[in-house]
Amino acid sequence: MTYQNYSLKQLQQIDAAHHLHPFTDHKEMREAGSRIITHASGPFIYDSEGTEILDGMAGLWCVNIGYGRDELAEAAYAQMKELPYYNSFFKCSSPTPVLLAKKLAELAPKHVNQVFFGSSGSEANDTALRLVRHYWALEGKPEKNRIISRKSAYHGSTIAGTSLGGMEPMHRQLNGAVPNIVHVMMPYAYELALPGESDHDFGLRAAKAVEDAILEAGADKVAAFIGEPVMGAGGVKIPPMSYWPEVQRICRKYDVLLMLDEVITGYGRTGEWFAAQTFDIEPDTITTAKALTSGYQPLSALLVGDRIAATLVEKGGEFNHGYTYAGHPVACAVALKNLEIIEREGLVDRVKNDTGPYFAKALQEHIGGHDLVGEVRSIGLMGAIEIVRDKATKERFLPAGSAAVTVRDHAVAQGMMLRATGDTMILSPPLIWTHETIDMACGRIAKALDLGQADLRKR
Ligand SMILES: *Cc1c(COP(=O)(O)O)cnc(C)c1O
Repeated sequence: MTYQNYSLKQLQQIDAAHHLHPFTDHKEMREAGSRIITHASGPFIYDSEGTEILDGMAGLWCVNIGYGRDELAEAAYAQMKELPYYNSFFKCSSPTPVLLAKKLAELAPKHVNQVFFGSSGSEANDTALRLVRHYWALEGKPEKNRIISRKSAYHGSTIAGTSLGGMEPMHRQLNGAVPNIVHVMMPYAYELALPGESDHDFGLRAAKAVEDAILEAGADKVAAFIGEPVMGAGGVKIPPMSYWPEVQRICRKYDVLLMLDEVITGYGRTGEWFAAQTFDIEPDTITTAKALTSGYQPLSALLVGDRIAATLVEKGGEFNHGYTYAGHPVACAVALKNLEIIEREGLVDRVKNDTGPYFAKALQEHIGGHDLVGEVRSIGLMGAIEIVRDKATKERFLPAGSAAVTVRDHAVAQGMMLRATGDTMILSPPLIWTHETIDMACGRIAKALDLGQADLRKR
């Protein structure tokens, strides 16, 4: 690899001179020097100094089968030699997207049988937004175009993705969102449940916010509700089990489409292929990306339910939308191999019946009791740790978010990569983690909490 001709310092200098990064304070990064990851294997990443770090984030929620899988490299190589690229515009196709679409239709809930490909979750959500509005226009109701989303939602970083999302810092830099998108409360019991309110009742109340927004606009003006089954980037916010069925009931009552953003939860993370199955709901669209290829290639698949697909096919004429790389043969070949490995190794079942429950128990036992921890929660192999100053009152450290960053920095120094979002630390490990890896992670996080606590006391 060419990077081996460069020292860490040189790479950092070149990075600082020429490379603009996503979600980065460039001034800060250029002063500190970027962390340069050079290789990875199984559950570990390695930086340019050779430091081994356990990757608690699966890259960025995507490397579900872990690093260093030769089979994926071989699938890409073979496909590149045979057909590196062809488009799927204008009635053309190539074998790998065809076969991948069939595979996805088999794995998806029964009423979902069509796939629209793109190269990222943001693109797929852009497609989903256009598709639901187009659907209502084709049904003779073009004014039924409002989308209801949630505060702190993450739906990507394009203008459509940012508009659908509910991240305030992102909206502040948007200066003109896509119109007719509103944001309601999120199902985040830890901060938003009332004293004495049960989880179940809180879930129903959070769902009621969707109904209120529909009634406020008028049902004939609302196209769809969009949500992540479990809010990911917003802090692994796991809704009460009462929430999704109630949201679905409300959507059906007012004939509002249900859009599920499974860019994180798709392909096994919650212990089913899709979280729609975990929460037993039937969305009209399912956005997927990240773990579809375990991040080895950029690829997204918008899974489209029969209701929308039937109208699009029968009444739609030409759908004037699409990406050059839609159905990219190499990305699709890698996805097919990735799904084959997930199936062959039984990873989805393992998350559901073995590692998911073990992860939940380990977090409770090793992390949950720590003085700095207000709550731990998890579903499948995604988890959150709430950092607080006071467990009983849930008071946070000031300035907001600083305590989690302190703990995160200690964790990385302990060889444990995880993420801090606000005052919540989040985990989304590869699905190949074993009991031993989970124990190793919990040990390192507990150590980071101790060291973080010592720092925070000094302040
Ligand atoms: C990551 C993410 C996206 C955006 O995907 P990109 O591939 O980064 O465009 C959209 N929705 C959710 C829920 C995500 O986590």
